[in-house]
Amino acid sequence: MHQLTLAEIARGLADKKFSSEELTKALLARIAQLDPQLNSFISLTEELALSQAKAADARRANGENGALLGAPIAHKDLFCTQGIRTSCGSKMLDNFKAPYDATVVAKLAAAGAVTLGKTNMDEFAMGSANESSYYGAVKNPWNLEHVPGGSSGGSAAAVAARLLPAATGTDTGGSIRQPAALTNLTGLKPTYGRVSRWGMIAYASSLDQGGPLARTAEDCAILLQGMAGFDPNDSTSIDEPVPDYSASLNGSLQGLRIGVPKEYFSAGLDPRIAELIHNSVKELEKLGAVVKEISLPNMQHAIPAYYVIAPAEASSNLSRFDGVRFGHRCESPVNLEDLYKRSRGEGFGAEVQRRIMVGAYALSAGYYDAYYLKAQKIRRLIKNDFMAAFNEVDIILGPTTPNPAWKLGAKNSDPVAAYLEDVYTITANLAGLPGLSMPAGFVDGLPVGVQLLAPYFQEGRLLNVAHQYQLNTDWHTRTPTGF
Ligand code: GLN
Repeated sequence: MHQLTLAEIARGLADKKFSSEELTKALLARIAQLDPQLNSFISLTEELALSQAKAADARRANGENGALLGAPIAHKDLFCTQGIRTSCGSKMLDNFKAPYDATVVAKLAAAGAVTLGKTNMDEFAMGSANESSYYGAVKNPWNLEHVPGGSSGGSAAAVAARLLPAATGTDTGGSIRQPAALTNLTGLKPTYGRVSRWGMIAYASSLDQGGPLARTAEDCAILLQGMAGFDPNDSTSIDEPVPDYSASLNGSLQGLRIGVPKEYFSAGLDPRIAELIHNSVKELEKLGAVVKEISLPNMQHAIPAYYVIAPAEASSNLSRFDGVRFGHRCESPVNLEDLYKRSRGEGFGAEVQRRIMVGAYALSAGYYDAYYLKAQKIRRLIKNDFMAAFNEVDIILGPTTPNPAWKLGAKNSDPVAAYLEDVYTITANLAGLPGLSMPAGFVDGLPVGVQLLAPYFQEGRLLNVAHQYQLNTDWHTRTPTGF
């Protein structure tokens, strides 16, 4: 049963081949058996899952239907879940039980999805390897000595290992697409404002966006359908109707204009990945797409701009964790300053502290203009590059990451080396555009992803291209040995 996709589960439940309760029990048993190797969950929610599964079975017995009704999923542990620990991968929130559900959690629960647990992640979503988690690193099911990517590494590893069919993630600079690429999944970062951020613990508010991780584009369409939509509780949520994503999957690719930026193929990209990307282009050409070289001239400035803006916003967002109202508090503080210093010093890990310091520095008087304001100007130039490109093409295609998954610990002593791995993903966040990563082949037995970017609110186009590609390739069906 663990090999079933969300689409297959919906059919199986509708045809009464199995119940949601049976499926939920089978997957919980599989998690108990296999997750100790991976560490992909921070919390399991067995009781909640079984009661949601029984409720979904009862709704189906009453004639209700729905693609997510009775479907097992998990949430990245930064989506608030009422009465359940929401740790954000941090010691700071190890004891935090959210008093309410995030909009995404509430919407998916209302659609009948079954929550199996909360997945491991980089602390406060800062990282690309899932090694900064207070709860320990997550292992890549394709090779347990390698990282699964981050920051949604727990969601990715769990889905890739067939512990469950799909999970939520968030993407501030690539944290859905990059772990999807590194574990052979399909992951979608929606347009900024498409999915509510209410109850999603903030890292960098102008960049953060929730989205689905699954094995197929078809399943991403199903999960996104349950997540997307206007939310009056999120002032950046956009009041646009949500299209039927599953209905968009079957469009023809005849005449689709694909732009391949020449800047993507510079030094730094593993040549074996470049070859796989060219193969995926050829595959799409066979389906009728027309390929054109384009240019994104300001791409070289993206990493420096992102690593000013994201820490700046993080330093502000994380100021609320001060040991006073919730979260970790140090033992016997002697005064208020001591309380702040020690609570934050003990509660936050090294990477989070580094980002807070960088962000506070970039925002400080005298440096604001030189760093933060300049980064915002670069952000606009990057957006303008995309706008110009989308006058000429319908989709932009390239690698998701410059390298396959690296070995655990390999980049621990050099944070900048890890930041450089984000080169292809962060531009979509800076511009607010939707992006998708899908499986494109393997290098040394490790998965490689191809990234597609589209204009605002064209998630349906991304899913359409990915689905047509997946009907004609079988990379996404490969299962890691041992799982
Ligand atoms: N790797 C990037 C960072 O560390 C992106 C993380 C994310 O998207 N949450 O900031």
